[in-house]
Amino acid sequence: MKTIILDGKATRDSLIPGLVERVKALSYVPTLAIIQVGDRPDSTAFIGAKKRFAQRIGVKEKHIQTTESISQGELLDIIKECNADGGIHGIIVQLPLPIHLDRDAIINAIDPKKDVDALTAFSVKRWYEGREDAILPATARGIRTLLEAYKIELFGKKVTVIGRSMLVGKPVITMCLNEEATVTVCHSKTKDLAKETKSADIVIVAVGKPGLITAKHVKKGQVIVDVGINKVTGEKLDDEIEGARLVGDVDFKKVAKKVSAITPVPGGVGPMTVYSLFENLVDLCTGRV
Ligand code: NAP
Repeated sequence: MKTIILDGKATRDSLIPGLVERVKALSYVPTLAIIQVGDRPDSTAFIGAKKRFAQRIGVKEKHIQTTESISQGELLDIIKECNADGGIHGIIVQLPLPIHLDRDAIINAIDPKKDVDALTAFSVKRWYEGREDAILPATARGIRTLLEAYKIELFGKKVTVIGRSMLVGKPVITMCLNEEATVTVCHSKTKDLAKETKSADIVIVAVGKPGLITAKHVKKGQVIVDVGINKVTGEKLDDEIEGARLVGDVDFKKVAKKVSAITPVPGGVGPMTVYSLFENLVDLCTGRV
């Protein structure tokens, strides 16, 4: 049987008109504030993708870039200003932050009504509980939407998630549980990764190690979702992260031959994540929280 490529770009493109309609239906143009501390090239590239997408759907963005050495107090003041500004409807603090800053305190300073990334304690509690009015972190939401688009159900399925970070793994694990999947979680201390991946119907990998998942980790008929984004040196340039050649955590060529469906990198989860971030913004604008 032919392997289905779970095409995040095509899915995103097919969904954009609906999102544009939702933006147009608002009585104002939504504005997303993106706060960047320093000038990490990877952060700049991710912000670039968000800015391009904002433009595409008629959303304004306000990129606030500070020096790397900004103090905790100064950064908190910027967030407070954004919270109080009625012309700003969503706030993202681009992660990672320099180590002298207290990430949790910074994130928790964001007004939950503007918390597009859904990482404040308020938002985390809501998505952890699986509440209807929760905003789900964009990567988890993007994966759910992509699977839905291909009519791949999570309900009752055995899902193995590799990675348990607060940013990606945990929201994905929770989303799968909330969708009634039976979830196995793997991480760096997992003894026999292949045993855990092979026993699943769906494998979701969010680690950040190219080639971690090879043919020996998968079996016929499985669905593989590769969240990893790894920059490797090479000639080919992608527009997902400008100027970089990207690979995921899965040895795509070898694994795709065995499984029934797989996301490519680039062009799989990445575009869905950016799309979902703006869905979150529009949900906040329409009073989800
Ligand atoms: P992270 O914070 O570094 O977490 C990595 C996770 O992988 C940890 O839970 C770690 O386990 C686990 N891990 C490390 N080595 C492992 C191994 N050999 N076997 C099994 N598990 C292992 O990274 P992250 O922020 O979650 O991001 C993960 C990847 O997703 C990165 O490549 C990132 O660029 C990508 N990403 C993609 C999108 C997208 O839209 N496609 C969005 C965000 C992030 P421990 O907990 O035991 O340390």
